[in-house]
Order: sequence, then structure tokens, then C-alpha cells
Amino acid sequence: MNNSTREQNEERLSERPAWLKRLSVVIPLYNEEENVEELHERLTGVLSSIGIDYELIYVDDGSTDGTPVLLEELSRSDERTVVLILRRNFGQTAAFAAGFDVARGDVIITMDGDLQNDPADIPKLLSRIDDFDLVSGWRKERKDPYLSRRLPSMAANWLISRVTGVRLHDYGCSLKAYRREVVKSLRLYGEMHRFIPAVASWYGVSVTEVETTHHPRLRGKSKYGISRTVKVMLDLITVKFLQSFSTKPIQFFGPLGLGCGLTGFTLSLYLSARKILFGESIGGRPLLLLSILLIIVGIQLIGMGLISEMLVRVYHESQKKPIYVIKEILGRKEK
Ligand code: UDP
Ligand code: MG
Repeated sequence: MNNSTREQNEERLSERPAWLKRLSVVIPLYNEEENVEELHERLTGVLSSIGIDYELIYVDDGSTDGTPVLLEELSRSDERTVVLILRRNFGQTAAFAAGFDVARGDVIITMDGDLQNDPADIPKLLSRIDDFDLVSGWRKERKDPYLSRRLPSMAANWLISRVTGVRLHDYGCSLKAYRREVVKSLRLYGEMHRFIPAVASWYGVSVTEVETTHHPRLRGKSKYGISRTVKVMLDLITVKFLQSFSTKPIQFFGPLGLGCGLTGFTLSLYLSARKILFGESIGGRPLLLLSILLIIVGIQLIGMGLISEMLVRVYHESQKKPIYVIKEILGRKEK
């Protein structure tokens, strides 16, 4: 790193918040042997120029190439490096979660291990972390193939932003900075890491976005194909459902169930009336089938809502998980 960028970084962070004493950088790696060394070199260059104590947490997500061996060497030669080796490939979200669990920094930065994100953007993210709890990267000029990646990603970003109501341009960018409390209270499942900003902001976490540089993948292969889009969509449905109804599922199933049940009941009343008053035969009418179907579906939905209500109680009470999030408690003096 040359001197002028060093000065720039230091200047950017000259008003570094007093609470920021240590950084953790969490990086998932799955078969990235061609990238590990350069990644480490560039990260170390940027992080040491910032002048804050840091730790590098590399999470090897069950790689089958030389990645774990290279990481092991790094952990021996550089005392700021922590390496987690997962037993098998659990996926990027799980790898992030593992890194979050051991991270000890006041701010936790995540990025990809394939050098598509630029470590040089880290100071830029940090410059906003005093004002926001979460700073997310925006790959404004994304360098990925258009049809297989950028197009589905544009559609996904548009949809996620509409559905979650959290307006970001780029949900898929791994380069993000979080205040410690944000990641420590998160539970991640599926392919959920891209929904962290949305989930976090529902909990009242403040989120902003900064433009970051994106590079084409120079070495190694991308680990995802078009099939990821489907997974992301399903996760989006889960996230949205949890956001809206996780503490009151009957409010979701109830109206649907009542709607179906009552419609079915009305239809069957109508059919019965025709039978009784006019002696019509109703046995062969499709409407009869429909009304029976609606009544059964209605009862099922309400039953499902009630079961879900019980599940919610089990979920919260067994884990002593409150249904609120406290930011801080003022005025109580602990003895
Ligand atoms: N990755 C991982 N586990 C997986 C798939 C990917 O840890 O199962 C890592 C991968 O090594 C890389 C990052 O996640 O560091 C992003 O993956 P990739 O570059 O393949 O995704 P893309 O940039 O193509 O969306
Ligand atoms: Mg990549």
C-alpha cells in the first residue's frame, strides 16, 4: 500500500469512534486456494494502515482443495489470524454464522474470499459506522456475467426491497460492516445472510449503504448458479412471513381459514336451500364439491394457525427469547 492511500485511510478514520477498539473481519472460503494468499496480503495491508487492532477470521467451509492447508499456515505465521475449519460444506450463511460466534471485535466486517470485494473499501464502510449500526456495500458496477448473475440479481434486489420494505440497492454484496451487537443477536438459517439488513432493520437497527468496488472473479470458480435464485425467493417468503406473523401466526392463517370456511358454508347453505325448497338434485353439482373443499380447507387453516400459536410459545419460552429487543437500559444502578 502506498503512502497516499495510507494517509487517506487515516484521514477517513481520524474521527474514529472511541468505542471502536477492535475489528473482526469474517471471510468464508470454499475451494479458494488460488485466492487465499493474495487475499491475506491485501487485507493485512489495508487493516494495518487503518491503525486499529484487528483479527482476521477465515472460515473454511469444507473445502476439498488446498485452502485449509494454506489457512493453517497463515494461522501459524500471523497471530492476528483465526481459522475455523468446518467439518463439511455448510454453505456461506453457516460459515458467516460460525465466524460471528467467535468474533471479538466491536465492529465485524464480512466479505467474500474470492477478491471480488475490495479490501480497500473497508475504511469507507468504517467511516459510517459511528452513525449507523450496519453499513452495507453496494456493488454499483458489478463485474459478473449478465444473464446468469446480474439479471437475476436485479430482479431479486427489486423484489426483496419491495417485500421487506428496507430500501437497499444491493442485498447480495457480502462486504458489510456490523456493530457487534447486531451480529451477536442474529440467528441465521438457509441462505439468509443476504437478508440480514432487512431482518436487522425490523429490529430497529439502522442501516445504510455505501458504494463499493467490485472486481470480476480472476481465479477459482463461482460456487453458485442460477438455482440460487429459487432458494433466495423461498427464503424471502420465510423471512417475510416471520417478520409479519412470527408472534401471531393465527392472524395469518385465521382470516384465510375463516374466508374459505365461511364461503364454503354459504355455498352449502345455498345448495341445501335449493334441495329442500325446490327439491332439486344437488348430488352431481361441482359447486357441492367446491363448498365441501372450502369448508375442509378452512378448518385445516384455522387448525394450522392454532398449532402455530402453540409453536410460537414453545419457541419463545423454551429459549427464553423475548419478543422485543432492548437497545439499552438507563437509570438502573446495579448493586
Ligand atoms: N462460499 C462458501 N461456501 C459455499 C459457497 C461459497 O464459503 O458453500 C464462499 C466462497 O468461497 C466465496 C464467497 O462464499 O468466498 C462467495 O462465493 P462466490 O464467489 O462463489 O459467489 P458469487 O460471488 O459468485 O456470488
Ligand atoms: Mg464471488
